[in-house]
Amino acid sequence: MNIILLGAPGSGKGTQSEVLCEKKSFTQLSTGDLFRNNIANKTPLGLEAQGYMNQGLYVPDDVTNKMVGDYLESNHEGLIFDGYPRTVDQAKELDLMLAKYDKVIDKVVYIDLDDSVLMSRLTGRVVCEICKRSYHVVTRKPAVEGICDFDGGKLVTRPDDQEDKIKTRLEVYNNQTAPLISFYEDKLVKIPSDGKTPQEVFELIVESLGI
Ligand code: ADP
Repeated sequence: MNIILLGAPGSGKGTQSEVLCEKKSFTQLSTGDLFRNNIANKTPLGLEAQGYMNQGLYVPDDVTNKMVGDYLESNHEGLIFDGYPRTVDQAKELDLMLAKYDKVIDKVVYIDLDDSVLMSRLTGRVVCEICKRSYHVVTRKPAVEGICDFDGGKLVTRPDDQEDKIKTRLEVYNNQTAPLISFYEDKLVKIPSDGKTPQEVFELIVESLGI
């Protein structure tokens, strides 16, 4: 089964992917993480992506699609697409790329959350430099301040988690990614997440996927 996690920045896609991989044996394909790895390794792809990401803008579709296409060559089943597709053109290209391997997207999980909650989550978010797990300085603190519970990595604020960048990202999401909700109408399961804990959201996802 291949699934997409759809939702605004801060809706909890990364957190849910992590648990789904751990408990339900999915493999996460996070385009944001792939870009950040490329940036850390100073690859040509990373250098191209960096300017867009730091402004809170999307990396151009052709660059993103090519990166995903390369990934799919070695892995195309049991995937969670986290942060991809983000435009209708990417979604169409993904269908074509999966068809090469006789694969499809089975379900699209849409994590729905109020904009005001998204904002406060993102402004307080810190992520582990090593494993990328996210924490929140108020609502989801690690046992030791600034240190990841799992691997002792340093917790840092992402460059695009500044308030002005977050505003841009939410706007870009509403303009370019929200149209995917109707594009995937047939495969969509909507998970209302306001006021729910990550565990409750996870249970709803599992139930709605029948897994
Ligand atoms: P978030 O979901 O919190 O915005 P991500 O780590 O998924 O964070 O993405 C961070 C940034 O990486 C995006 O703002 C964008 O610049 C770039 N990016 C990630 N995925 C895509 C994509 N599918 N298309 C274009 N740009 C992307």
